Amino acid sequence: MPVVLAGLFLSLIAAAPASASPTFARTLSRGMHGSDVRALQSRLTELGYRVRASGRFDRRTARQVRRFQRDHGLRPDGVAGPRTLAALTAEGGADALPAADVTGWVFPLQPASLVLPPNTWEPDQGIDIGTVGRACGPAVTEVAVEAGTIVQEGIAGFGPAAPVLRLDAGPYAGRYVYYGHALPALVPVGAHVQRGQPIAQVGCGRVGRSSGPHLEIGISTPGGPPCCPRMGETAPLITQIMRNLAIEAGVASVTS
Ligand SMILES: [Zn+2]
Repeated sequence: MPVVLAGLFLSLIAAAPASASPTFARTLSRGMHGSDVRALQSRLTELGYRVRASGRFDRRTARQVRRFQRDHGLRPDGVAGPRTLAALTAEGGADALPAADVTGWVFPLQPASLVLPPNTWEPDQGIDIGTVGRACGPAVTEVAVEAGTIVQEGIAGFGPAAPVLRLDAGPYAGRYVYYGHALPALVPVGAHVQRGQPIAQVGCGRVGRSSGPHLEIGISTPGGPPCCPRMGETAPLITQIMRNLAIEAGVASVTS
């Protein structure tokens, strides 16, 4: 786990492909929930329309959307449609909004309460994600981010049990996700797993080339070998995805 300057981290994020641009994929209204609702709420609060970032579009969220709409010459219907979302995004410059997650994945570590916040993560071939108090073993489960097949366990440098998951669903179907420094694996090679199914635990101590318990998760290049991407190849992509999922999962104090 190299010590990484914040500047490098930010430049990697900035270099990420289109997925890094703030986007809302749908109109948001009362009763909806998700990471995009949470992003909307954070943005409203940033702009002075304070509302708790609960991820649930409640009555107060609708009221603050109406206030924002009134102040910006939009029809005050409390529904965040394309025009309102564009106005929210434009205000204060681009990149102000975290992108909503579009992968449909689940966050790879459970429980979220034992995951360190994204401002402590360090880019590697993938992204290094640490645990609270170096929690490991049965305390921190690694789950399949999406349905797929475990095609390998054990990766040079990442320990004897590190799983490689070939995704068979979602926008990254056919790509491989590796879970570095895991120990033990909880399913055998060849197992087909569902999204969210436990597949391993965060290894205790030094598993592979590691300074302590953490997960390095990464994704293969399109058409590339199962493991592993070179430095910088896909780290910005996996980092952006993990940040978005962390918001959705409720990982504490998501800041950057
Ligand atoms: Zn690492």
